[in-house]
Amino acid sequence: MIKEGSILINSILKIENLEVHYGPVISLRGVTLSVRIGQSVSLLGANGAGKTTLLKAISGILLPSKGSISFKGKSILDIEPASIVSEGLAHVPEGREIFPLLTVKQNLMLGAYSRSNQVKVKKDMDRVLYYFPDLCKFYNMEAKILSGGQQQMLALGRALMSKPKLLLLDEPSLGLSPIIVKEIFSILNKFQKDLGLSILLVEQNAKLAFDLSDYVYVLELGRVAMSGSKENVQNSRDIQEFYLGMHQDSQLGKKRWKNRKTWR
Ligand code: ATP
Repeated sequence: MIKEGSILINSILKIENLEVHYGPVISLRGVTLSVRIGQSVSLLGANGAGKTTLLKAISGILLPSKGSISFKGKSILDIEPASIVSEGLAHVPEGREIFPLLTVKQNLMLGAYSRSNQVKVKKDMDRVLYYFPDLCKFYNMEAKILSGGQQQMLALGRALMSKPKLLLLDEPSLGLSPIIVKEIFSILNKFQKDLGLSILLVEQNAKLAFDLSDYVYVLELGRVAMSGSKENVQNSRDIQEFYLGMHQDSQLGKKRWKNRKTWR
């Protein structure tokens, strides 16, 4: 629980009935979800389900047409993305979006650009380099020479430099080798334990999502199709067939999710 003014809250993020449009096209249709303090929540869903759109709406990059988003008990709907970061919400986007011509150090310092206490910034820089010793080796070199895995570490490190309370992670495993993915997810686990971070993770790799998360939402065509503790969601037959590759033939000998076309 944290205290905001005179109110005690236990959800760091609360979203209700969120709708987002791209022009006339609706992308999110009444999404409601929450992330508790210190909790790791995963968002699963097929391509185009709306996962990236949801993260962009939370970090203020997209303006919802309806619904509410509150962070630490306060609405962040009318707040600029940069101020949302200063409030403690960091977004690690799909594709990392690092600056290739800036050095590793400059990329990391961008995460701390709104912070004034340089002593604390230096302490956090030391911590990032402790978590990601690879970044130390290339500290004063241009980020373009980093491998894909190191770039993902840089993007995570940059997010940590803003001193977040909640991390939004968009497919951190994308395009990386299984060994690097394992390393990155073990560091994410450490973040959560050492720093008490809350995490909202978008991940196509359901196994990774279940390993990291306490709670899971499944998005389908812009709606929450299923949600529950990771044990409950993991045991659903649809999830086992669609995401975990465990084939359980139905009476007709066909995959259930293919027959029904939807899980709702
Ligand atoms: P993926 O795993 O492929 O990234 P996703 O679940 O993150 O998929 P989104 O990228 O959020 O899905 O897309 C949700 C829907 O919004 C899709 O139908 C997509 O085509 C549409 N969409 C996304 N970005 C735009 C855009 N800039 N303009 C128009 N439609 C968009």
